[in-house]
Amino acid sequence: NLSDKLDNALHVLKGHGQITEVNVAETLKEVRRALVDADVNYKIAKDFTKTVKEKALGQDVLTALKPGQLMVKLVKDELTQLMGGEAAGVNLSGNPSVILMSGLQGSGKTTFSGKLANYLKNKKTKKPLLVACDVYRPAAINQLHVVGEQIGVEVFSDEGNQDPVAISKAAIAHAKENGHNVVIIDTAGRLAVDEAMMTEISNIHTAIEPHETLFVVDSMTGQDAVNTAKAFNDRLNFDGVILTKLDGDTRGGAAISIKSVVNKPIKFIGTGEKMDAIDVFYPSRMADRILGMGDVVSLVERAQEQYDEEEARKLQKKIAKNAFGFDDFLKQLQQIKKMGSMKDLLGMIPGAGKMLKDVDIDDDAFKGIEAIIHSMTPDERSTPKIINSSRKKRIAKGSGTSVQEVNQLLKQFNQMGKMMKMMQGGGGRQMMNMMKG
Ligand code: GDP
Ligand code: MG
Repeated sequence: NLSDKLDNALHVLKGHGQITEVNVAETLKEVRRALVDADVNYKIAKDFTKTVKEKALGQDVLTALKPGQLMVKLVKDELTQLMGGEAAGVNLSGNPSVILMSGLQGSGKTTFSGKLANYLKNKKTKKPLLVACDVYRPAAINQLHVVGEQIGVEVFSDEGNQDPVAISKAAIAHAKENGHNVVIIDTAGRLAVDEAMMTEISNIHTAIEPHETLFVVDSMTGQDAVNTAKAFNDRLNFDGVILTKLDGDTRGGAAISIKSVVNKPIKFIGTGEKMDAIDVFYPSRMADRILGMGDVVSLVERAQEQYDEEEARKLQKKIAKNAFGFDDFLKQLQQIKKMGSMKDLLGMIPGAGKMLKDVDIDDDAFKGIEAIIHSMTPDERSTPKIINSSRKKRIAKGSGTSVQEVNQLLKQFNQMGKMMKMMQGGGGRQMMNMMKG
């Protein structure tokens, strides 16, 4: 019956609708390039595209409007997964909860300490205390005081005292006495990872046993960020990463690399020098950013176009040789369906929009056509000339349509063939492009 035929038709169409291997490889090459451009470590980018490839092959795209969009979705989902799925908060279980900042000099520790204090203070139930443990530079202590004043948060410091462990302990005692339920310890960093810095931060870490140890990293450092993150993680086994300076033109690929290497969640991002330039880290938003969404979408679409062009070339050859049959016609129909509704498609033809305004075009019209084509034998599809009246009757019966409808399709098909041949010159290509989208 007709329903079976339609199922069958759909089945065949599904086969045609699969993203092909060529298609996927082409697209993923672009994605990998975009990732590496965004500072994602090359090996990580390569592994990533391999995973996506496996997922993409075998995905049915008939239900998707555009295979390209499906690819983008696959890539985005996988990227989001890679960066940790859900957003993770900081551990505020202690009283006071002690938060230790670590990272290189200039990464944004002092600025982020202020931002986090401000963020928590705005939550009303929190009364933070900032602690100045960058003891070697008076300017650093002063910087934290300026920040504290700006946001109305008390800053604990002990000028002249060169022992950050003692200062931290004194600060925690001070917090307990004065009702501060969060203590944020800002520490000294150096321009590169060195033993003195590592020893100092791990001494503080061991002595005060913070509830939360955060590693602050400048997202603009790109590939270096990975090595730094690893060095700090080896010593501190930190709880989370803070990615700063994402307001710059960096795409933030460091986020992926860091997550892959240390497997710790990225908790917050810094998006400016001001105290309110702090955001919870959302993997899916970051995925958009890394992919430069628009960029990758257009890249993927371009790869898709190249693939379609190849198909179009094959088709043109067939038309030239008069070998355009119903199988090709079916493929074209499928392309059209992928593009959206028939009315939208026709609306793209200059001048046709106005004409079609009041015409109701039924997308279901395709279903009858597909059923008819599927009731044809392979010979009939490739050489429609042989379809005589007894064949027409059989096709109509098989497809649950009438001989009249079969005739109509044959007539339309003939006209289309003529038109295609006629337009082989300049206009033909345009028309083909329009047909395939
Ligand atoms: P620290 O040495 O780790 O304490 O780093 P600082 O907090 O002193 O920050 C170093 C520089 O980076 C300062 O000029 C900050 O204003 C700037 N900075 C920190 N975070 C951000 C950010 O998210 N965006 C921008 N644009 N600048 C930032
Ligand atoms: Mg500092």
